[in-house]
Order: sequence, then structure tokens, then C-alpha cells
Amino acid sequence: MTTIASSLQAVNARIARVAQSVSRQPDEITLLAASKTNPAEAVREAWLAGQTIFGENYLQEALAKMPALADLPIEWHFIGPIQSNKTKRIAENFAWVHSVDRAKIADRLSKDRSESLLPLQICLQVNVSGEDSKSGVAPEELAALAAHVVRLPRLKFRGLMAVPEITTATALQRSQFHLLRELFDRLKRDGYELDTLSMGMSEDMDIAIAEGATLVRVGTAIFGPRRYPIPEELAARAAR
Ligand SMILES: *Cc1c(COP(=O)(O)O)cnc(C)c1O
Repeated sequence: MTTIASSLQAVNARIARVAQSVSRQPDEITLLAASKTNPAEAVREAWLAGQTIFGENYLQEALAKMPALADLPIEWHFIGPIQSNKTKRIAENFAWVHSVDRAKIADRLSKDRSESLLPLQICLQVNVSGEDSKSGVAPEELAALAAHVVRLPRLKFRGLMAVPEITTATALQRSQFHLLRELFDRLKRDGYELDTLSMGMSEDMDIAIAEGATLVRVGTAIFGPRRYPIPEELAARAAR
């Protein structure tokens, strides 16, 4: 087995083990492979090992690797920050977007989504840590954004996403995942039909699953260390 195949197997086993430990079914949790900085060949290796859902953060990087993978029916998810001049190419090339955090971006994605494709599946990203530097709608503003987004014709509102604070304080992380879960349950009580709680990465997926994640976004635990630092990581390093 290749390294990627064995890492993938280990991640799936970990999801199953953690799910069972908190009395959840492993198949309630979808694994998204976060492939940023990894080349098309690494994505293909993961695909050959059974992984079908991949997430990318940077549009240029994603568009550069997609042609080499066009023979595979990969389900592509966009999980990075969205600039308004990128919405057209995101709407044309992805099945899902997890990082919608303002009405203007949602409007543009809906307008740019072709009638010939299924509606774009979206999650609203919530800033659960309250850090100024973080993307995401503030929890107090989520209800208004949800009410706006659910009316857009070419989007299908599926759930919520968050990237909690990077910290070794697991109690803090848990409280941020818990907040996202509460916001999710509140929207469902208000009548929204949501099924996706996108939270948890390589370091914190166990806590996220315990707090109710239905989709975890995992990069380094599958592909190994990133090939080059991403802008968020450079910024975090500079702030230290
Ligand atoms: C990179 C990234 C991930 C995966 O992070 P790992 O720590 O490599 O598992 C998940 N979600 C988002 C939004 C990311 O940018």
C-alpha cells in the first residue's frame, strides 16, 4: 500500500473508533480530504484508495490540478476564503462551498451557478472563536444570513462550517465546536432542513466528532506535512 493509502485507512479507522466511543455510527461522518498544496498525483493516489470527496482552499491551485484529474468523478468542495471576483469560477468548478460568510458572496455564487448544474451545495462559515482575523459570520448575524441564503435559487443550504482557534487548550476547542452545534440545532428548530456540520481537522477531529460533526476536513493526516506553508499558517507564525 502507498503511504497515502495507509494514512487514509488509518484516518477512516480513527473516525470509526471515535464515533463508536461516543455512540455514533461511523457512516454518519463523511471524510473530506483537504488536498491544498498537494499535487494532482497525490489526489489520484487517494482516489485510487477509495477517497471521493476533496476540498481545496485556493482557486488558482485547484484549477491548475483539476484538468489532470478530469477523468475521475471527484466531488470537489471549496473550503477557503472567497474573494468576490472568484465566485464565477468557484460556481462553475465545485459541487460544494463551505466558506460562505456574507450575503454578497452568496448572491454572486447563486447568480453564477449554471442552470445545467445541480444547485451549489453550501455551508455558512461561522466565526466561533471571535478572532478578528478569522473568516466567518458572527454568531449573532447567522440567523439573518441564513434567512437570506435559503431564498437564493441556485444554492442549496446544507449546514454550517467552522475553523476553531488553533490552540492546545482542548476545552476551548470543544466549547467552540459545541457552539457551532448549538447554532446548527437552533436553525433546525427554526425549520431549516440541514444535514451538514463541517468541523474537525487532523488535530482536532476527535473532539469535533464527539461534538456532532457530520463531515471532517482532513489534510495532513492523509497527505503528510504540506508542501509549502499556506498564508494562514504564515500569518499565525508571524503573530507568535
Ligand atoms: C487545511 C484545512 C483543513 C485541513 O487541515 P489539516 O490540519 O491539514 O487536517 C481543513 N479545513 C480547512 C478550512 C483548511 O484550510
